[in-house]
Amino acid sequence: MSVATVAATATVDVLDPATGEVLATIADEGAAEARAAVDAAAATASAWAATAPRQRSEVLHRTFELMRRDADELARLISAENGKSLADARAEVAYAAEFFRWYAEEAVRPGGSYGEAPAGGVRTLVTHRPVGISALVTPWNFPAAMATRKVAPALAAGCTAVLKPAVETPLTAYAIARLLAEAGLPDGVLSLVTTTDPASVVSTWLRDPRVRKLSFTGSTRVGQLLLEQAAAGVVNCSMELGGNAAFVVADDADVEAAVAGAMVAKFRGGGQACTAANRFYVHEQVTDEFTAALGAQVARLRVGPANEGNEIGPVISAGAVQTLAGLVDDALRQGATVAARADVTAGSGGYWVAPTVLRDVPEHASVMQEEVFGPIAPITTWRDEDDLLARANGTPMGLAGYVYSRDLARAIRLGESLEAGMVGINRGIVSDPSAPFGGVKHSGLGREGARAGLEAYLEPRYLSVDWP
Ligand code: NAD
Repeated sequence: MSVATVAATATVDVLDPATGEVLATIADEGAAEARAAVDAAAATASAWAATAPRQRSEVLHRTFELMRRDADELARLISAENGKSLADARAEVAYAAEFFRWYAEEAVRPGGSYGEAPAGGVRTLVTHRPVGISALVTPWNFPAAMATRKVAPALAAGCTAVLKPAVETPLTAYAIARLLAEAGLPDGVLSLVTTTDPASVVSTWLRDPRVRKLSFTGSTRVGQLLLEQAAAGVVNCSMELGGNAAFVVADDADVEAAVAGAMVAKFRGGGQACTAANRFYVHEQVTDEFTAALGAQVARLRVGPANEGNEIGPVISAGAVQTLAGLVDDALRQGATVAARADVTAGSGGYWVAPTVLRDVPEHASVMQEEVFGPIAPITTWRDEDDLLARANGTPMGLAGYVYSRDLARAIRLGESLEAGMVGINRGIVSDPSAPFGGVKHSGLGREGARAGLEAYLEPRYLSVDWP
């Protein structure tokens, strides 16, 4: 892994969360660099929008190939700055690269239509144009995929863009930007800004009338702040915000499959995924069996630094360790018990939380009400479907959900009754570049992936043609 150390007046250290050691020191940028990035995007906007869709597609396709070429190096970089296991990091690189392939294919399918208006005498000609300079803001939990899920469709649509990766994990985004340059992306079409003052950088962008799009992935709290700021300039917004996914296990579920799904849905990336199963609603007839089987797997998890072949790494920060400890203590005070806990075999330093399964967790415990963002699995039971749905939907969040039942029609009915943008039916993962990813209620606005992810960066324009 090669990371340039820069000599700038202000710098920021990127840390390895497994040890707390400094991985790299990079420039800590601010409003001036944010403006310069928009200047570059503005200078290249017309030329990039005017490139043939096939040409944009080829840049994206080459980037997909380059990410595959460098997959191992990228995975090690993600593990180093984010802490997730190498297996999880490799899976992220594969997923992240697929957005370049998918949008390379979508770039050459612009859509549009030409038809006769109902009253006759008029032809309606609909085409699409790029929405304009796009500000992209991403979190630390998927340093590659959250960036490519925005960058690939923005570039495919013909937009130029500015990207602000999270300050905890900027190195992966810079590595991907270098691959885009190697693939032939012209200078200035995409610029990155890393900062310890995200409010200043993003508000600089939102106050700039040249910026027409904000695509944000992060917490609901910050998303709400940015929606308010975007209102002044009527900036087109896509929001991928927090989750609080219910994982429902029915009495007729294949419990072994449900446990395998739970391990992925809960512990992938150490539980730091917006789609992570947050609350386990297990039918009372299978609660003991499910809890024992999940507990046995969790107790065996190898927790430690990624580079030593472990399955679960550290959480992102000391603050996260404290928050998670508080959530577990609160649940225990309210009557929950620990069903299983893994050992942490890490050296000194780093931010470690033992993966834990809690049972008999009351509905009102904070661990059920808040987004957990860590390797804690709270289990509660249910008997009646109406009561289950009232509890599962009793949250302002609505990103993901999971349902396990051997009766597919019942599973689909329950899945459709969950107030969530995405529901895994007998599977513990919902992310797929060909499917519209996103949430309802406080989990967001708009979708990424699929055709919808491209349309987020396009404006329809129609010409109404007099046709005597
Ligand atoms: P965060 O909201 O703190 O930060 C996200 C991004 O916003 C970062 O780049 C950060 O620097 C920036 N930011 C922070 N404060 C800002 C401000 N005042 N003004 C402008 N920008 C600001 O979130 P996080 O802790 O980095 O990420 C975790 C959250 O992201 C969780 O809630 C998780 O569910 C959510 N998330 C959602 C999705 C999704 O697709 N829905 C995917 C991944 C993560």
